[in-house]
Amino acid sequence: MSDKTDWHTRAAALRLDGRLLIDGQRVDSTSGETFAKHSPIDNRLLGPVARGRAEDIDAAVAAARRAFDGGRWRRQAPRERKRVLQRWAELLLENRDELALLETLDMGKPIAHARAVDVPSSANCLAWYGEAVDKLYDEIAPTPANALALVTREPMGVIAAIVPWNYPLLMAAWKLGPALAAGNSVVLKPSEKSPYSALRLAELALEAGLPAGVLNVVPGYGPEAGEALALHMDVDAIGFTGSTRTGRRMLAASAESNLKRVYNELGGKSAYLVFADADLERAARTAAGSVFYNQGESCNAPTRLLVHRSRVEECVAWVTDVARRHAPGHPLDETSTMGALVDEAQMRTVLGYVQAGQDEGATLACGGQRVRAETGGFYVEPTVFSAVDNGMRIAREEIFGPVLGVIAFDTEAEAIAIANDSPYGLQASVWTGQLDRAHRVSRALRAGTVHVNQYDDDDITVPFGGFKQSGNGRDKSLHAFDKYTELKTTWLRI
Ligand code: NAD
Repeated sequence: MSDKTDWHTRAAALRLDGRLLIDGQRVDSTSGETFAKHSPIDNRLLGPVARGRAEDIDAAVAAARRAFDGGRWRRQAPRERKRVLQRWAELLLENRDELALLETLDMGKPIAHARAVDVPSSANCLAWYGEAVDKLYDEIAPTPANALALVTREPMGVIAAIVPWNYPLLMAAWKLGPALAAGNSVVLKPSEKSPYSALRLAELALEAGLPAGVLNVVPGYGPEAGEALALHMDVDAIGFTGSTRTGRRMLAASAESNLKRVYNELGGKSAYLVFADADLERAARTAAGSVFYNQGESCNAPTRLLVHRSRVEECVAWVTDVARRHAPGHPLDETSTMGALVDEAQMRTVLGYVQAGQDEGATLACGGQRVRAETGGFYVEPTVFSAVDNGMRIAREEIFGPVLGVIAFDTEAEAIAIANDSPYGLQASVWTGQLDRAHRVSRALRAGTVHVNQYDDDDITVPFGGFKQSGNGRDKSLHAFDKYTELKTTWLRI
């Protein structure tokens, strides 16, 4: 990477285009209205962004439908789609610095992380689905000898991809990779808090050879552009990532309109169980590193750290040590490991939970303050609470900020009961030196992903999604094709 001064200079010189992308063209919203997008780094105005509304969603869905019904994208051989997706992935890497800068300016994450993780992971996702799509075979069912039943996959049609602001590029890639590889058209609605990288991503898709209209991007507010998209009668499925509250709205919108498929990837309150025989330092450092990564704005952050009572003090010492080393810095400085929260509202929410934790009797072990306020940006120190009870709000509700709560337990059964006592079930982790306990506990945990003696492994080849109110779909892996394809049975008399 280049030196620090360079990133600041390059950020100042960056081209920011907040217009919609519909049918292959960058256009203003029909009403001409825009909204102001500020950077969480210093509250500087980044620029006007088109305020998409129902009429823009109509235009985008119509373009997507035309591209699906009459265009070549879904008809061409899968290996042709593969070429486009792979070229697109290459273009992401060729434009890595620009995309990383957009991500950092838009939502405040450290440039080093955006560059090392968000952009290459997104490119890898697109390339992987491109690579996969011409390896998928259809099925012949084991029917009586005088008949043949073919079970084939067909693209669904027009997909609404509605994504959040915490990993804007990556969450978009997780939807677009399988949806486009399968031959669908997509209307993507990025979060109003982080619209820029999605727009640039779609420009690069056109450059890679994606036909006009196959991918359209409409930035705008959730209750306006998002709602219009979710309710649209000509959308066949919603791939949604966001809060559980909005996920409910997706299901209601489907019920109120055309019963479109809804695949929800929602919030989390992940439990991380540390037994007395665990490698405590590694367990604690890994937990804290994961919670404070991305300023704590990760759905799968292990925010409930369940520790055997005999080792709670040591564990709190380790996690507070990590917390003190993760002081928020300027996101454009390469050495920063933590940046700014996405906006003032999010910062106020996080500080409100810090207050709630203290009011409910948890012990504030470190952090809890706004810092770097003189910059105008929204930075909160890594925060650790000990003596947390699982009934407290800080243990039950998703905070979406750098706040870790330590909960003591006495027995394995109690640890499992506490871990499962949550409306969420996205991810969990078990730390123990005993193989039988690792198996027993990971089977008992109600979560879509369980890690044993680690938390970091991640790969596009494995499904990601939640149990309970953490959602119903699975992103990543070949399983994601299930969301964006219909199974058709064709009987042939032979
Ligand atoms: P959010 O629900 O507020 O918004 C998500 C998206 O939905 C945004 O694009 C928003 O504009 C849109 N939206 C909001 N209201 C809408 C409505 N009424 N109709 C249609 N669209 C609407 O979530 P957020 O604050 O952007 O993101 C944070 C949440 O996302 C957290 O809960 C986090 O856990 C979750 N998340 C989950 C995963 C996962 O894979 N499970 C990954 C990342 C984030």
